[in-house]
Amino acid sequence: MERNKDVDVKSLTMDELKHEMEKIGEKAFRAKQLYEWMHVKLARSYDEMTNIPKNLRERLVRDYPYTALEEVTVQVSKTDGTRKYLFALPDGNYVESVWMQYHHGNSVCISSQVGCRMGCRFCASTIGGLERNLTASEMLDQIYAITKSTGERVSNVVVMGTGEPLDNYDNLLRFIHMVTDENGLNISQRNVTVSTCGIVENMRRLADEKLQITLALSLHGATQEKRRELMPIAEKYDIREVIAACRYYFEQTGRRVTFEYSLVGGVNDTDADAENLCRLIGGLNCHVNLIPVNPVQERDYTASEHRDVIGFKNKLERKHINATVRREMGRDIDGACGQLRRRMAEKIDS
Ligand code: SAH
Repeated sequence: MERNKDVDVKSLTMDELKHEMEKIGEKAFRAKQLYEWMHVKLARSYDEMTNIPKNLRERLVRDYPYTALEEVTVQVSKTDGTRKYLFALPDGNYVESVWMQYHHGNSVCISSQVGCRMGCRFCASTIGGLERNLTASEMLDQIYAITKSTGERVSNVVVMGTGEPLDNYDNLLRFIHMVTDENGLNISQRNVTVSTCGIVENMRRLADEKLQITLALSLHGATQEKRRELMPIAEKYDIREVIAACRYYFEQTGRRVTFEYSLVGGVNDTDADAENLCRLIGGLNCHVNLIPVNPVQERDYTASEHRDVIGFKNKLERKHINATVRREMGRDIDGACGQLRRRMAEKIDS
């Protein structure tokens, strides 16, 4: 008999799942039931799927591994209710995800890879390098597990946790289609944001998909030299190519691009930096998120002074560039991005 251990059912689209069920001699409507259990009722195991006959459930248990991330810890911010989750994957790896409450609904920030190979100098997620890509189901299940845990619907998804989403393109695209699928969680494409350090070919590929998701570009420097100091990926793509890809994204999708700019004290936060930034992106339909850099234990960068942050923002606004200083949610539980997973990995190694 055919074994299917390598088929990840939770990563299959409805059509693929129908096909898979037919392959094992089941009716297509079983696929619909199974899909609903996985992606609407958010079942944590096959055992919960009570309208699926016992013999089929047993077969599923035996032949199809079920992705369900295991919650290891959750830290809850006392100041704003932000929750930071650490999940265990079956292969012994860990990922972290963050749940945030805003006026307009609940947001989840998910990881797209275990570790990262992009090497940004101020980022904790990249310190141990890339371990592996996450599958679509592992990205989905971060949202599902959190929805179950909080009992509240998630309305916004940001792919801004550990990893470079455009370095895991196929799984990312599958994830986007599934999380916005009307037969699943049915999150509006407009409420999905993907953040990239600027992998130009894949930004253009994503533009050609003509989705309505928001693209966020991690800029962090307004000249090629400044950017190269902070982000090794800038060795590969010149800043002008990256900005051209952002313009292309807007042209293809009509969606305003977001620029992420982490302010590092004395490194990219001077008046000259603000002026260069105005020159670089002036006239582009965009929004700038300014984020005082989150200090990482292993790095010696510090955040900009509050008055420099405000000064920087004012300079942009004077040139009619929309800018927001991002609220630092969950500061008390945070540590910078990727630090929770790192601390867990250290505990296990030692
Ligand atoms: N790889 C993607 C998404 C993950 S990082 C990207 O580069 O966009 C999400 C955002 O957090 C990026 O803008 C990243 O540059 C930023 N970031 C990482 N470490 C940070 C830190 N210590 N302080 C502030 N922002 C940080």
